[in-house]
Amino acid sequence: MAANTITQAVYEQVIQRNPGEVEFHQAVKEVLDSLGSVLEKHPEYVDAKIVDRIVEPERQIIFRVPWQDDKGDFHVNRGFRFEFNSALGPYKGGLRFHPTVNASILKFLGFEQVFKNSLTTLPMGGGKGGSDFDPKGKSDNEVMRFCQSFMTELCRHIGPDTDVPAGDIGVGGREIGFMFGQYKRIRNEFTGVLTGKALNWGGSLVRPEATGYGCVYFAEEMLKTRSESFEGKVCTVSGSGNVTQYTVEKLNQLGAKAVTLSDSNGTIYDPDGIDDEKLAFVLDMKNVRRGRIKEYAEKFGVEYSEGKRPWGIKCDCAFPSATQNEIDGNDAKTLVDNGCMLVAEGANMPSTPEAIEQYIENKILYGPAKAANAGGVATSGLEMSQNSLRLSWAREEVDERLHNIMIAIHKQCYEAAEEYGQPGNLMMGANIAGFVRVADAMLDQGLV
Ligand code: NDP
Repeated sequence: MAANTITQAVYEQVIQRNPGEVEFHQAVKEVLDSLGSVLEKHPEYVDAKIVDRIVEPERQIIFRVPWQDDKGDFHVNRGFRFEFNSALGPYKGGLRFHPTVNASILKFLGFEQVFKNSLTTLPMGGGKGGSDFDPKGKSDNEVMRFCQSFMTELCRHIGPDTDVPAGDIGVGGREIGFMFGQYKRIRNEFTGVLTGKALNWGGSLVRPEATGYGCVYFAEEMLKTRSESFEGKVCTVSGSGNVTQYTVEKLNQLGAKAVTLSDSNGTIYDPDGIDDEKLAFVLDMKNVRRGRIKEYAEKFGVEYSEGKRPWGIKCDCAFPSATQNEIDGNDAKTLVDNGCMLVAEGANMPSTPEAIEQYIENKILYGPAKAANAGGVATSGLEMSQNSLRLSWAREEVDERLHNIMIAIHKQCYEAAEEYGQPGNLMMGANIAGFVRVADAMLDQGLV
């Protein structure tokens, strides 16, 4: 059977088995569409039905999370963990707390995570979890009670050699702390069961910075292929959370100028650039006071566009760093028409398929999420290593390892794209290089 007939049949089965889960379908389709030439070159993957197996999570856990607010009222949320693939190591991937969380979103994220973790070359399988709980507007005590209830169930499914969750949207240092505390009470063990921990109880230096820094390191490698650098480049960045904050910091360090930030309410545009002083204000506002990005416009007297995304603003490079499908085909066309030469994805699947088509047709440099934002999970992998060794590495050591990993991921994607006849297409390269390592491990391990 021809390779594309095989991948089409698998895709149809995914739709049938996971009805209505459009984000999951989208993520699967992108990977399957990249695999034609791989399956032709490796009939052993076809014989062993590796593609059929890889799209089905190894385990899916869904549970009730009851909790009580400060007034004493009761609430019930839904908790999830999708343990997708453990061919390369314990399941690894973040927890997302956001009202839009459902099985489709977490399966797309878990599926992508498998290939992303493979690209890091560290021993990590892929998984993802979370809840439809909304931390916005909740007190610290309410967030703590929710996290404790969530972990009371999750703790029986995870462990340092089984499944090691981390943060994602709505899950930062505060939530990881509350969940770690509850895991420790129930299991009576102090182990590296979560990453993104605070520094003084097992966290790694550079983990908070890692996704943003890593994305910029990756983009720097992309620019080098056209003999370009970040010096003087105007960059639009979306979001204002963890990934965005450290993307802007690294862009500043490399001589670029970041001019936008956003949240789900709107976008600020600061043509003078978000320098380190203004960024310090953002960190305090988002991470401590938990305010809205509009406050930036009020504080620094710049433009705020309610309900708008940053993609209409002229830039050399764009860093979508908020959420899935935040750049559609029209946004991508606007970016291209305005002379944008690079898009590097800090967020997961931020570009719709129509947007990706625009990037590829117009030959702009496109760094897909599973490669460009892999620095976060790579540094989580380094946190796991330090926990196992019961050692802490210096900031410079972790940063250098992160930098080298991002350079190596870019090289792998670039070379895989060349090898399989798609030179310059890093999306194809990432899907192929990520897939091959997992597929080989699955073959080695028998019928798993
Ligand atoms: P944070 O919770 O720290 O920040 C998320 C930001 O995105 C906020 O500014 C938020 O605005 C905005 N946002 C969230 N949902 C939406 C939405 N539906 N529409 C518009 N804006 C939205 O999350 P992170 O920075 O950790 O994560 C951002 C992205 O990066 C996600 O796609 C995540 O999966 C990905 N990622 C994160 C990694 C990490 O290490 N943290 C690793 C790899 C990828 P608001 O406050 O209004 O909700």
